[in-house]
Amino acid sequence: MRYKSTRGSVNNISFTEAFLMGLATDGGLIIPESIPTVDLEKLRDLEYKELAYEIFKLFIDDIDEKTIKELTDKSYSTFDTPEVAPVIKKDGVYILELFHGPTFAFKDIALQFLGNLFEYALDKTNSYINILGATSGDTGSAAIYGLKGKKNINIFILHPHNKVSKVQQMQMTTVEDNNVYNIAVDGTFDDCQYIVKSIFNDLDFRNRYKLGAVNSINWARILAQIVYYFYAYFKTGVDELYFSVPTGNFGDIFAGYVAKKMGLPIKKLILATNSNDILYRFVNFGDYSIKGVVQTLSPSMDIQIASNFERYLYYLFDEDPSKTKELMDEFTKNKALSFDKDILTKVQEEFESYSVDTDNTISTIREFYNETGYTADPHTASGISAAKQSKHNDVICLSTAHPAKFPDAIKQATGKTPYEPEAIKKLYSKTKRMSVCDNNIDDVKNFIEKSLKK
Ligand SMILES: *Cc1c(COP(=O)(O)O)cnc(C)c1O
Repeated sequence: MRYKSTRGSVNNISFTEAFLMGLATDGGLIIPESIPTVDLEKLRDLEYKELAYEIFKLFIDDIDEKTIKELTDKSYSTFDTPEVAPVIKKDGVYILELFHGPTFAFKDIALQFLGNLFEYALDKTNSYINILGATSGDTGSAAIYGLKGKKNINIFILHPHNKVSKVQQMQMTTVEDNNVYNIAVDGTFDDCQYIVKSIFNDLDFRNRYKLGAVNSINWARILAQIVYYFYAYFKTGVDELYFSVPTGNFGDIFAGYVAKKMGLPIKKLILATNSNDILYRFVNFGDYSIKGVVQTLSPSMDIQIASNFERYLYYLFDEDPSKTKELMDEFTKNKALSFDKDILTKVQEEFESYSVDTDNTISTIREFYNETGYTADPHTASGISAAKQSKHNDVICLSTAHPAKFPDAIKQATGKTPYEPEAIKKLYSKTKRMSVCDNNIDDVKNFIEKSLKK
């Protein structure tokens, strides 16, 4: 399988080149040259790890099969159940639990795999990389747990000082491996992101320190997320498949879209947003325009621009890279795109969308808890609410985080503090390691330089 960019100027690169590149060098996103189709019967009875291996093989032909198998097994052996992504049925919906990895959020499924891929590829080419990223909470901890202790990799994660949840802060700062650097910036998440972007734009600094990224546009992350759509289909035996997906950057739901193209009989993907509803407005009205971000109880969905959206645009406009580039340029310029009726009809054949505000999130957590005894985190709750609003039967709701990561919201909804897993309890007594930096690009650059000289 070869890979190319949605904007047409990167072509014919290998899988390894694709995941090391992250963002395509022409500013586009990387996609496979074609999407392979599968024989569902051959995959039906496989365990999660085996299924992942079979799907990964279809997309990776520059790493030998034995190594793909080893990397896959290693990536999913850190989960607290061999099922990796268990499915349960409650109150007319299925819950696909994607939070059984080391940081209790679905991002582990992709980042455990990505960490092992990086280590393998760097070792093979005798090179190294320094990963730099900003986080509002979940991505940073999942990236740190994916890369901690890996050879030839350092990871620098910026988070807004005292503005991430307690559990998230502990998850990031109690990791002991000395390739992990937590930078707490005296500022907001936007400030952190601005600093990271500015550092990446300093090409001299970027090349000198071999900086790389692991953000959600990395193709390997999408690839890892395709697997559980198939897994849920085989586990539930539902034939009229509807998945409800709590969505921020459109990465998770895009993986479902790829699974459908591979032959998974998905009727529709239900896209749940919180009050940050750009994707809801897109699906329902063809209006993809930026409004200010509002803070909600589901911070991982508080996004303004969905970074993976470009991949979908590419397929929506019949795999036309010049049209994709034209639309993305227009969006950069006007901060808005609008789509006509024909296109909207096409979108609505694949997707349905509901926007779930904070009151609705809280009442969904409360009602679902009262009716079933099951505690859903606020992200998952938005998906459950969307599933109920859709009125389809047996919707499979992707559960993207463990409720213990968001105890305040759960307490507000149910009056009870959620059960805390042992692995989280243990964090309280551990030593925290982080360096506080001023809200300033040079301060962060100096910190990176100083750390790498050691
Ligand atoms: C990242 C995240 C999401 C959103 O996923 P996207 O791929 O960005 O759409 C939803 N829920 C949780 C808990 C997350 O961490």
